Amino acid sequence: MPPTGKIYDYLVIGGGSGGIASARRAASYGAKVGVIESSRLGGTCVNVGFAPKKVMWYTASIGEAIRDAREYGFPAATAGAFDWNTLKHKRDAYIKRLNGIYERNLTNDKIDYIAGKASFVNKNTVIIGDGEEIQAKKILVVTGGHPIIPNVPGAELGIDSDGFFDLEHQPKRVAVVGTGYIGVELAGIFHALGSEVSIFSRTTQILRSFDPIIKDTLRDEMVKVGVEIVPNSKVEALSKTANGINLQFTSNGEAGQKEFDTVLWAVGREPNIKTLGLDKAGVTLNDKGHVVVNEYQETVSSEVYALGDVCGVAELTPVAIAAGRRLSDRLFGPEKFSTRKLDYENIPSVIFSHPTAGACGLTEEQAKKKYGAENIAVYVSKFSGMYNAMLEHKEPSAFKMVCAGPEEKVVGIHMVGKGSDEMLQGFAVAMKMGATKEDFDNTVAIHPTSAEELVTLTKANLKKD
Ligand SMILES: Cc1cc2nc3c(=O)[nH]c(=O)nc-3n(C[C@H](O)[C@H](O)[C@H](O)COP(=O)(O)OP(=O)(O)OC[C@H]3O[C@@H](n4cnc5c(N)ncnc54)[C@H](O)[C@@H]3O)c2cc1C
Repeated sequence: MPPTGKIYDYLVIGGGSGGIASARRAASYGAKVGVIESSRLGGTCVNVGFAPKKVMWYTASIGEAIRDAREYGFPAATAGAFDWNTLKHKRDAYIKRLNGIYERNLTNDKIDYIAGKASFVNKNTVIIGDGEEIQAKKILVVTGGHPIIPNVPGAELGIDSDGFFDLEHQPKRVAVVGTGYIGVELAGIFHALGSEVSIFSRTTQILRSFDPIIKDTLRDEMVKVGVEIVPNSKVEALSKTANGINLQFTSNGEAGQKEFDTVLWAVGREPNIKTLGLDKAGVTLNDKGHVVVNEYQETVSSEVYALGDVCGVAELTPVAIAAGRRLSDRLFGPEKFSTRKLDYENIPSVIFSHPTAGACGLTEEQAKKKYGAENIAVYVSKFSGMYNAMLEHKEPSAFKMVCAGPEEKVVGIHMVGKGSDEMLQGFAVAMKMGATKEDFDNTVAIHPTSAEELVTLTKANLKKD
């Protein structure tokens, strides 16, 4: 089909977090904008990411609260009897409402929503499926990513994180293969709701890229509450059995096998670029297939931009949103925004584990590399939060503050323990403002909270190697 004759100022390929945010900001400046989406509006985060996941995390947390309630004097509180199927359908309906809100927002902002799969014809033209060609002065690639399914015999018997949200019933025996934050979060949800969970780790660790205070504390706690971690393991094959899935593996070099109801692959994600025809737009990729951009989200092809998961840096919803808005400010906003871009330093992130964890800035190791070990001071506090006072099982909390230079500038905060997810945001503001340990010391504590541990660190908390 020939071009429609309509030329957009800004055409956004991908109606997920980054795409919608960037499109709406551009439209607010009067740009003529179109958003192309091949699946459901809202992208990963709304449909198969943080939104349904957080509902499941709340569900799991309520399960835990019911468990704890008896020790707090509610003898009638009984765990179990959780109805996964009812919750799943209620959750699906919530997500559907969100999809509708996203579509209405586009309409209200006079943005054209184009349903279909886009690929480039050239750097100013895309084609939708085999049909309509659309032209634009500027094009944003914000197509996100998808879970990797490894090349293992029988791999198709397993599910990925998208499939987690399709489960109609709660599996009793679950294998989670992979120890990134998605694997750890989904394993935690299954376990808190009563499934038996085994995590297959390629090492002895989970959450490899996080500071040891998070990964060690969380791993030990997960093991303590009954999650099995299969160390130094490699999954060799999956096969169907009468009652489930047989998982063949090696661990510490020894062969083993175990039957599960569900095997969940959480071994990483890769960018959605395969059918995009990026070569026709002159866009380059790195060796992992991520789109290469500069600090202004510009690809090497002029007026073709990219951001979010497809670029493979800090793959988080608010990062895609912030980068998308800043890009539109710069491209379509007032002169004062002509150099606007996202600063990728000190981006806080949280793991919705049990307990939660969060990190902002450099790990201890990274700080030592950057500043030299002799210029680093590390403060650590390990404690049991007051919530545990009435409980037999004392869930741990552990906080670490990494400081650099004689002024002890705070360059890293790492926390694990109940409430970390809600605590970190404010501390991240302080870090972004360049706070020092002294600034933290000068802040009066809020008592009794866990957060106060970070403003009451003393010499006694100094970590000695
Ligand atoms: C299980 C899970 C949990 C997560 N939890 C969190 C969390 O708690 N907090 C957080 O910040 N982040 C979380 N994330 C990450 C977050 O979802 C992503 O970082 C975010 O969605 C990235 O936004 P994006 O705009 O780059 O891509 P996406 O939101 O993935 O949007 C890309 C869109 O492009 C569309 N598309 C792809 N190709 C084409 C094409 N050729 N034509 C048209 N459309 C196309 C896709 O269908 C998709 O809708 C989670 C992710 C997962 C998988």
